[in-house]
Amino acid sequence: MKMTLAEVARVVKAQPLSEADGSRVVTGLTFDSRRLKPGMLFVPLQGERDGHEFIPAAAAAGAVATFVAADHAPIKTKLAALVVPDPLTAMQQLAQYYLLMKVNPKVVAITGSNGKTTTKDMTAAILATQYHVVKTPDNYNNEIGVPMTILSMEPNTEVLVLEMGMDHPGQLHALSSLAEPDVAVITMIGEAHIEFFKTRAKIADAKMEITDGLKEDGTFIYNGDEPLLVERAKKITQKQETFGLHPENTLFAHSINGHRNHTEFTVEQWPDLTFSIPIMGEYNVVNALAALLVGRQFHVKPEVMQKALAHFQVTANRTQWLIGDAGEQILSDVYNANPTAMRAVIRDFSEFTATGRHIAVLGDMLELGEQSKALHAGLADALDPHEVQVVYLYGSEMHALADALADKYSPDNLHYYPLSAKDQMIRDLQNDVGHDDMVLLKASHGLHLETVLAALIAGG
Ligand code: ATP
Ligand code: MG
Repeated sequence: MKMTLAEVARVVKAQPLSEADGSRVVTGLTFDSRRLKPGMLFVPLQGERDGHEFIPAAAAAGAVATFVAADHAPIKTKLAALVVPDPLTAMQQLAQYYLLMKVNPKVVAITGSNGKTTTKDMTAAILATQYHVVKTPDNYNNEIGVPMTILSMEPNTEVLVLEMGMDHPGQLHALSSLAEPDVAVITMIGEAHIEFFKTRAKIADAKMEITDGLKEDGTFIYNGDEPLLVERAKKITQKQETFGLHPENTLFAHSINGHRNHTEFTVEQWPDLTFSIPIMGEYNVVNALAALLVGRQFHVKPEVMQKALAHFQVTANRTQWLIGDAGEQILSDVYNANPTAMRAVIRDFSEFTATGRHIAVLGDMLELGEQSKALHAGLADALDPHEVQVVYLYGSEMHALADALADKYSPDNLHYYPLSAKDQMIRDLQNDVGHDDMVLLKASHGLHLETVLAALIAGG
């Protein structure tokens, strides 16, 4: 980005600067003084520490100017200071101005309880075959990450693909109003943040806010297998399209064929093509359908999309296959867990054929609030002793699932460990798991099953 300080000051309604300062050029923004490059504008944000403390470091790194919150002004600095009511809001205002007045790309905004990053990466890969695309880096999907992504766009950007996250009502309203998307996508409704929201219906309400800024001639693309969304979409006046595994959807997939490192599927509407994505999981087929609908919206041909999907780069491939010390195959997914994702991965896992047993090692799913025990116990119907022969459960919440499984599993095949007994569980697993077995590891990241994984791989 390139703007004069005078223009920046005008957009964020800061006091006018001296003529000399006003004519200086800003080439970017950062809130992290360690990442500041000469020519940038520093944005002091309130984190664990007050960003204003880092203004001297920003000056030393070559900043041209800094925002200063009105309640901190005046501040002693040799930098040109733009005094604003709130630096974060000023950054958002500047991002909106840059987006709409300077670059004006088409905007795709993607939210959902799960699958945002994956769908964002797939969508960007498809669109990049035909357009100059900028996408959210990594997972920068909040009120800081979205404006930062916007401000990092080159002026020739044609399509901007934004991931939008939320953990409270109003957040997506703000992000969507800022970006005014041409296409708004909801991947699915799960239980993430249910501790705060209490019901999935309230989560769906909050996710629907992504349509608040949707342009009048824009398109709303959502998971049509989710009744909560179908019901809410009736109130939306913009064009709508749905994806999913049921035939009522605009685009739906069948003949899904899971392999270890890729998944094949057929899209009913393009029967001559077999699609393949370089990751596992039926849920990722659903994410791919969302990306395909966006691609079609931008006139990318199905066979071009097929090629793009086959090789798209995954930002964070959290599910990975590894070989353990005993030669067993391990499916590790220790980064996050919630009931929907847990069910999905258990189903995929049990569909892989093993010469030996399928062993699931499942740890607590965190942040489920009052319903936590019930949601843990509810996983019982996802586990079938004919498919997953042995279950190891770890953590205080998993006790509820252990109780719920007691009639289905014999004590020999059902093991429970409290949080304090991780080492014991590791020892038992090392004794139990054999060459022909297949092991699934999944829990919320807070349970740190990666240490269990490390032990299984390193042996001991
Ligand atoms: P975050 O909230 O951390 O940004 P995200 O929404 O960006 O997450 P991804 O990073 O794409 O989601 O995927 C995270 C995990 O969510 C996956 O590893 C998988 O377990 C699960 N997941 C992804 N897509 C779906 C889906 N469509 N339905 C259910 N679970 C999914
Ligand atoms: Mg993400």
